[in-house]
Amino acid sequence: MPAANVSDQPRLRFEIDPVVLLAAHKAAREDGPKVLGYYHSHPLGHLVPSATDCEHSTGDLRIWAIIAGGQVAFWRDSGKGFVELTCRMVEECPADHIKTK
Ligand SMILES: [Zn+2]
Repeated sequence: MPAANVSDQPRLRFEIDPVVLLAAHKAAREDGPKVLGYYHSHPLGHLVPSATDCEHSTGDLRIWAIIAGGQVAFWRDSGKGFVELTCRMVEECPADHIKTK
């Protein structure tokens, strides 16, 4: 879900709106969608976590999606630094194409 960047330096840093973040975790605890991770962009940067990203890493094993230059990269906050994940695009099958026994 989108959230405002509430950092006092929004061009340099990001801080997820805590109201949105807390609401997402609350919904997850109440059987809503799980919080798999977070996304943000590096408008003038690279697809790798920045030094600031690394400073704010919590090791919670969640995925960080970083968008830069029209691409996206996925990283797992492993607790021992960010580990790049591989990904592939998967099209959802229409329900009538799913075979059941
Ligand atoms: Zn970043």
